[in-house]
Amino acid sequence: MYLTQSLHRAAQQTPDAAATIFGDRVRTWSECLDRVARLAAALRSLGVGPGDRVAILALNSDRYHEYLFAVPWADGVLTPANIRWSPAEIAFSLQDAGARVLLVDDAFAPALPAIRAAAPVLDTVVFCGDGAVPEGALAYEDLLAAHDPVPDARRGGDAPAGIWYTGGTTGTPKGVVLSHTNLLMSALGSAASGEFMTPGGRLLHAAPMFHLADGAAWVARNAVGGTHVIVAMFTPRGVAEAIATHGVTDVLLVPTMIQMLVDAPDAAEFDLTGLRHLIYGASPISDAVLERAAKRLPTTEFTQAYGMTELSPVATLLLPADHRVDRLRRAAGRAAPHAEVRIVDAEDTEVPRGTVGEIVSRGGHVMLGYWNRPAETAQAVRDGWMHTGDGGYMDDEGYVFVVDRIKDMIVSGGENVYSAEVENALAKHPAVASCAVIGVPDPEWGERVHAVVVLAPGAEATPEELREHTKTLIAGYKAPRSAEFVDALPLSGAGKILKRELRAKYWSDADRGVS
Ligand code: ATP
Ligand code: MG
Repeated sequence: MYLTQSLHRAAQQTPDAAATIFGDRVRTWSECLDRVARLAAALRSLGVGPGDRVAILALNSDRYHEYLFAVPWADGVLTPANIRWSPAEIAFSLQDAGARVLLVDDAFAPALPAIRAAAPVLDTVVFCGDGAVPEGALAYEDLLAAHDPVPDARRGGDAPAGIWYTGGTTGTPKGVVLSHTNLLMSALGSAASGEFMTPGGRLLHAAPMFHLADGAAWVARNAVGGTHVIVAMFTPRGVAEAIATHGVTDVLLVPTMIQMLVDAPDAAEFDLTGLRHLIYGASPISDAVLERAAKRLPTTEFTQAYGMTELSPVATLLLPADHRVDRLRRAAGRAAPHAEVRIVDAEDTEVPRGTVGEIVSRGGHVMLGYWNRPAETAQAVRDGWMHTGDGGYMDDEGYVFVVDRIKDMIVSGGENVYSAEVENALAKHPAVASCAVIGVPDPEWGERVHAVVVLAPGAEATPEELREHTKTLIAGYKAPRSAEFVDALPLSGAGKILKRELRAKYWSDADRGVS
């Protein structure tokens, strides 16, 4: 199996159907096939050979979609860069991956001199934006025009398809090498598990395409067949407008984006009743946000995916029907068809149902390894089981409940406090728009439960009031003993809350002993 199979199939079966819609620009699958084969030819002429890494640093666009097909077509290895990285971090990742060719768009062209200076490995830059071509870069459309299509390498199976970087939520992102089989296993398994994606649907890419959460939705949509509607980046209004005007049927969003979409006044005017399916995951969601989303999107079904880049990325799925079962409110679902999931203790022994341990997963979706980090690969993948670093428990029917990242767990007065549970209770207060709960140093308790809160527009609340509210929902020792109010929470490029940044004011993760 190889990633470009779906492109050949779509061009054969639905040549005149839209492959991509990006603003006013619509391209059909037959056009897409031709353009991908030309881009692949151009990459070959630039010296890209089997296994060579080709990087991209760009906002979402229809050319990102062409890149994702053209690199495997040319037998190269996809290397999408995180758009939130600083030029120094980008240069580090290019150098680390040994990427000689980089595609860059208008948004990142200004950083090129700094990147080039710090990443001597880079010898060719292709400009895939629409503005002025930066000095020394080749123009994307000129390259396509100048090259005749080449045949597809059709290499796949266990060959590396790409290096995806982890979210960088807990530290420096790690490059994860995934094979074609890894990616297709996860996508086909997910698609096979239910109404996840229906043939011919239109998937909106609003989450960043560099991150594998969106990348996996891209693979799944291609496997089933349909159209990609693409917006350059997430804004609540942009998402609502794209859904209403382009007949979008499914979208993948991370919880922070869902919260912004349902709370944004400027997104309220759009009719979103055509949206059949919302897929969410990548971090915990609170009941409050899920309830607000169900209210705003009464005709939409919800599927939650839990996993990680290292698992290509899906391990468990909470299907639409599960969302209607009260008992499963806080669940992340059951092992997807391609995966086995277990909860183990520190000795890798499976723990009894209902007991919290580390979530591990095994199957064809487990990464080939971390790029250039054999010791960390050996540490993470033991006897075929990927160790997620996430704490959770499993019920008698195999539903997995994720309680916290092990690094985020708070030990207060000798008791374990799981931040996700506290955040869930806190978020039920009407004044709370979003929140994060962290452990801060405390002479009496060791770690103190501390809340960082963004209030809803015009709302007011005191730390005491929030503590009292939380105590009505969960045990008193879990309720935040202190709180601070901020305008916004620091988010990663993938839209996840950066708790290590919130903690840094109080102590470093190294001081906590979790780095
Ligand atoms: P890094 O590994 O660089 O610190 P990261 O862990 O955020 O970053 P990803 O691979 O993007 O990198 O994310 C995987 C993690 O996201 C999981 O380990 C888990 O902590 C969290 N996660 C994913 N899906 C869910 C979910 N449905 N519910 C709760 N947490 C989730
Ligand atoms: Mg991780």
